Amino acid sequence: MIAIVGAGPAGSYLGYLLARQGKDVAILEEHDRIGAPVQCTGIVTHSIEKFFRLKQNVIAKMLNKVIVVGKRDRIEVNVDEIVMWRNKFDEFVAEMAQEQGAKILLNHKFLQLNGKSKIKVKDKKNNSVKEIKADVIVGADGPYSAVAKAAGMDSNYKHYIGMQAKVKLSMDTKAFETYFGSDFPNFFGWCVPESDEAARLGVGCLENAQEYFYRFLEKRTGKKEILCWESGLIPLYNPKMAIQNGNIYLIGDAATQVKATTGGGIIPSLKAAQTLCDCIVNSKNYNKEFKRHSGKELLLHLKLRSLLNRFSDKDYEKLIEMMSQEKVRKILKKYDRDTPIPLVANLLLREPRFLYFAKKIFS
Ligand SMILES: Cc1cc2nc3c(=O)[nH]c(=O)nc-3n(C[C@H](O)[C@H](O)[C@H](O)COP(=O)(O)OP(=O)(O)OC[C@H]3O[C@@H](n4cnc5c(N)ncnc54)[C@H](O)[C@@H]3O)c2cc1C
Repeated sequence: MIAIVGAGPAGSYLGYLLARQGKDVAILEEHDRIGAPVQCTGIVTHSIEKFFRLKQNVIAKMLNKVIVVGKRDRIEVNVDEIVMWRNKFDEFVAEMAQEQGAKILLNHKFLQLNGKSKIKVKDKKNNSVKEIKADVIVGADGPYSAVAKAAGMDSNYKHYIGMQAKVKLSMDTKAFETYFGSDFPNFFGWCVPESDEAARLGVGCLENAQEYFYRFLEKRTGKKEILCWESGLIPLYNPKMAIQNGNIYLIGDAATQVKATTGGGIIPSLKAAQTLCDCIVNSKNYNKEFKRHSGKELLLHLKLRSLLNRFSDKDYEKLIEMMSQEKVRKILKKYDRDTPIPLVANLLLREPRFLYFAKKIFS
């Protein structure tokens, strides 16, 4: 039996793929509902269609523009992005897994490993602790991964704080906004419409999250009403992390499989699930295979993040100015951030002035 801890997108999609291969799969989820609490903005590119066709009820908005705001200037760039209802998305993927025969055990919290093929689990509904035997154990239990800790695989772990709230706000419902510069050190701020009256507003940072968040809230909305909080941790990709130790595997946020430029982890975790399914079914080395399939892309995002973290307000202005050219806009529309290698290669080819930034990456 394969025990997957966590029914987020990584765990459920892996469960779906393995069950489709005829494997006996149980997905353990500590909450009594799939998809709650929401701790995500739910933006994805159309690259999600490489994995499945989303059900209509999962989609909150389709966006065709991103507004990039620097300290002084702002530009609008055409894009194609999807804003999802994250709880409905998680339910959608979990249903796919169940339809293929995977069992989902709600209210089941992973506590500890007992040797290499047993796990201790708390059945929260019956308030009891039980042991489950498993040939394969997968930690898909998010950024606080208890499986990674129990297996001693959580070394050198760094994360951003993603502080986000749903706020009462009317904005252009076809565009989302991103904010850069010294008011958003080491990451960025965002404001994303989810309906005609509400938006998801947030900042990512390494520290002082509350201070940056409230300053941004006031600047963008004039202190509009907070409807609910949707904050969480965003792991920084760690290319040195071991993600397989014998029959124990990590995936998704538990394995830091997140784009360091944007904090987006949904698409990388779906791609990782395909790799991990192949590794489990065909006894391949997941540490190596993941690097082969996704390592270069995530490393490029990491390099870009470290470059952006060294940007001054002036550098951002220069970047915004370069992005406003028609030839650059076309590339940004054609290649999304889930295909970063052709995106960066084409930007460098069509606008050699980007080399000014590229040199900084490798210095
Ligand atoms: C504020 C914020 C905004 C974000 N916005 C975006 C975005 O716009 N686009 C994007 O692509 N990504 C975004 N992300 C990142 C994205 O949310 C994650 O990368 C993604 O959820 C990872 O999926 P996962 O399945 O690995 O983990 P999770 O979605 O965290 O799922 C883990 C599951 O494991 C369960 N679990 C945890 N511990 C246990 C345990 N001990 N026993 C049993 N179950 C357990 C949890 O309840 C949860 O259901 C954002 C993150 C934050 C914090």
